[in-house]
Amino acid sequence: MLPVLSPLIIFIGIGLDIVAFAIHRATGLKLQNMPITMFCLQIWFMGAFIRYSMIGWVDNAGLTSELQGSFSELVLRFRLSGMSLKTSSGKNVNALCSRKTVYISKASLDQLSKEAIDWLIGHELTHQKFFDLLDGDPSITAKRTARVAIVLLCLLGISQRLEFSWVGAIIVLVLIILIFATTTFAAIEGRDFTRDTELACDYVSMVQMGTSVGAVEALEAMKHGGAKNKPHGYPSKEARIQQAMDFEEGKPRATCANAKVEAEVSAILAGLK
Ligand SMILES: [Zn+2]
Repeated sequence: MLPVLSPLIIFIGIGLDIVAFAIHRATGLKLQNMPITMFCLQIWFMGAFIRYSMIGWVDNAGLTSELQGSFSELVLRFRLSGMSLKTSSGKNVNALCSRKTVYISKASLDQLSKEAIDWLIGHELTHQKFFDLLDGDPSITAKRTARVAIVLLCLLGISQRLEFSWVGAIIVLVLIILIFATTTFAAIEGRDFTRDTELACDYVSMVQMGTSVGAVEALEAMKHGGAKNKPHGYPSKEARIQQAMDFEEGKPRATCANAKVEAEVSAILAGLK
């Protein structure tokens, strides 16, 4: 999953610090390390920075009732619920889906037609369809491994707060790498923002729109973002534009090598019929 983290992590840090403090008071063990809250703040800042570099500040400046209305319609059309929309200051044509929220940049709203904005939002809503399948998939051990690692990390955090040890520090580091590796593993499986999923989200959104006009416009706008402004899906943009052209000509969708993505695309399309 994309590391766009919730401020909840800071409260977890505060909670762990309270537990460590209670143990310190009860047992007399000295507090000898940085508060866990500081560590959690660092992680949260890192996530916020990654999100900022993708879409800019979330300011909701462009969130008109008209946009909100068409978003609600799209959510219904994609048979989703509990979704929300936020707008950001981003200077690149770009959007993002994280934790049931679609973020769309100012540049997208300023530069794109309604058709293209709808298609872009449809692309992000398809990401949510993939996330929903991932959540419901019992064969995914990556997430569970990450959860166990997070619990162990919390316990070790408390023990490190009470008494610093190099062995503990190394185990903490290994756990962080494990969490990173398992979430990346889920991404490699094609469940995240990889080329195959990008193409699939583009396609499902085109099917829902019934045309590739909005897709071509939005993808072309991403294309001219400039070398410094690498847009979302940048490495596969040529393939994505080609797919949109093929769609307009009525050519069938080119399947990808990733069997899981194929099965999921079929399931999503069948569910939307
Ligand atoms: Zn995408």
